[in-house]
Amino acid sequence: MNYFQRFLIKPGSKVQLSDIDPDFRNGHESKKDALKIIERNNLRLRELQELLYAEHKRSLLICLQAIDTGGKDGTISHVLGAMNPQGCRVASFRQPTSLERDHDFLWRAHRDVPAKGEVTIFNRSHYEDVLVVRIHNLAPKATWLKHYNQINDFEKNLSENNTHIIKFFLHISKDEQLRRFKERLDDPTKHWKISATDYTDRTRWDDYITAFDDMLSECSTKHAPWFVIPANYKWFRDLAISQIMVEYLEALHMKCPPPSVNIEQIRKKYHSAKKKA
Ligand code: ADP
Repeated sequence: MNYFQRFLIKPGSKVQLSDIDPDFRNGHESKKDALKIIERNNLRLRELQELLYAEHKRSLLICLQAIDTGGKDGTISHVLGAMNPQGCRVASFRQPTSLERDHDFLWRAHRDVPAKGEVTIFNRSHYEDVLVVRIHNLAPKATWLKHYNQINDFEKNLSENNTHIIKFFLHISKDEQLRRFKERLDDPTKHWKISATDYTDRTRWDDYITAFDDMLSECSTKHAPWFVIPANYKWFRDLAISQIMVEYLEALHMKCPPPSVNIEQIRKKYHSAKKKA
């Protein structure tokens, strides 16, 4: 089975993250082996991204969601950093500004959707409005409940207008999160990443998992699928994401656009060897 099918959340299925093993490595034993595959995928990814850019017909939106320390930053730098910065950018979703609050919750997401030929990575995304908003009671239940359908309609609209959407949920265990927090504590260069809410949010772990389960169950659609990536092993996470991206982009069968000039004429006029007198 290819990686796309293996980690896809089938539209309409009921997800329970507790059934998915965050340690899963699909038979890969070592980081060393994985790095070879990741490197190969990254080279291919770059070619495919150049085709997307050259074609200028469609765009690619990648959404990344995870619990704190789940590995969003690492994913962006290891896998997606393989792409040419020309035509690829990251949009991070923080607490909405007052201007953003004065609009509907999808306004800021729409503003950052990639243009034709471009790739944009959402580091967190409009899904925060069914996650943190739900867990911290930032809006009434009647409001965030409507967001699932509104998100599905929004993504359908994008996809019908040639924006391809792939959504990755990075799945780590509660123990692994604690281990990563400790790693940050022990490394002064990572102290800046520690926030006051890290440990208090951990007490809401089960609420987060329920909210993730619902997000994945309600919003994995044919036009904007969710993938759950076992992410306790960072190298397996990178391997799986790079593999899915390559499989997805190859299936688009993109082609270089035809030249807009007469290539033969140019060759003859400027490059044919002239004999010296
Ligand atoms: P990250 O944790 O992704 O590295 P930050 O430390 O800047 O980035 O955290 C961003 C914070 O903004 C997160 O706590 C996230 O839950 C919060 N956030 C994002 N979107 C919203 C939203 N719509 N409403 C409230 N909080 C939000």
